[in-house]
Order: sequence, then C-alpha cells, then structure tokens
Amino acid sequence: MRGFLRSKVRVLTASSPTISPPDQHYDDLANRLRSIGQRATPQRLLVLAAFQDAGEHLTADEIYARISERSPTVNRSTVYRTLETFRDLGVIAETDLGGGVRRYQLLDHERHHHLVCHDCGDIIDLDDDVLEPIRRAAAERYGFSAEIDHLAIFGRCQFCRGDE
Ligand SMILES: [Zn+2]
Ligand SMILES: [Zn+2]
Repeated sequence: MRGFLRSKVRVLTASSPTISPPDQHYDDLANRLRSIGQRATPQRLLVLAAFQDAGEHLTADEIYARISERSPTVNRSTVYRTLETFRDLGVIAETDLGGGVRRYQLLDHERHHHLVCHDCGDIIDLDDDVLEPIRRAAAERYGFSAEIDHLAIFGRCQFCRGDE
C-alpha cells in the first residue's frame, strides 16, 4: 500500500496545467486502485481524479463540487462514502488543519505533515523525518505500528510568539 499513487501525484497537485487525456488518466488511476486489490468503479475514479486535478487539503464539499461539475448524476453520499473507504484503505488521509473542518489529502510515497498556528492560522510544512523517532519509539516501547500519514500539530508560530 505504501507504493500507492507513487508517480505523478505531486506534479499534478502542484497546479500543473497539464492534465493527461481522459482515457489515459483514468487507466492510470484504475491501475493504482487494482494494485491494492480494490475495484476501480467509475465513482471511485472520479473521486481520485478530483484529487489529482484539484490539489491538496480538500474538504468533502470541495471534492463533491468538483465531481458534480463533471458528472452531475453522482450523489453526495456516494462521494462521502468513497472518501471514508479511501481513508480506511490509506489511499487518502483525513486531517483537521484548524477550524474543525476535516480535509482530505491524497497520499503518495512522500509523506508530509504540518505545524498549524492557532493564532494566525499559518500552516507550516513539517518534514516526515521529524516524526521518525515517534514511529520508532511507538514500535520499540509499545510494539505499536504508528500510521502517521498526514499529521497536524497545533501551537503558536514564531511570529505570534514574538508578540508576547
Ligand atoms: Zn498537507
Ligand atoms: Zn502565528
């Protein structure tokens, strides 16, 4: 599952204007789902395509809006259920980045995390290697395999702290 959605995801999410021709685009997504033993239903492909085209940190409503532009017949609860399934499969991460709103992030082989300032709302990228000691300690001390896929740590940024 770790190798899922390895290629191209970064490139496409970084607001790249290049979008593959529809057929090739969907073949690629379908293969990625099948590679983890999952069925590639049209609804599932639509949800994945929305992530690849629209970028990072999307709310369920944003994903649904995106999909309904393309396919007005897809209903909201199907999209929400698919998001839950993908979350459980580790295909996407569900994270609260502030304001109590759950945001979804497509997971590729490169994990990233965030420091979120609860004063100014700034969101700082946190490298995955910072969390490696936590994974190791969880395994060694508790025999626990920690799935830290897209973590938000809340606190105060250096600028807000400077005003103290
Ligand atoms: Zn993120
Ligand atoms: Zn701040």
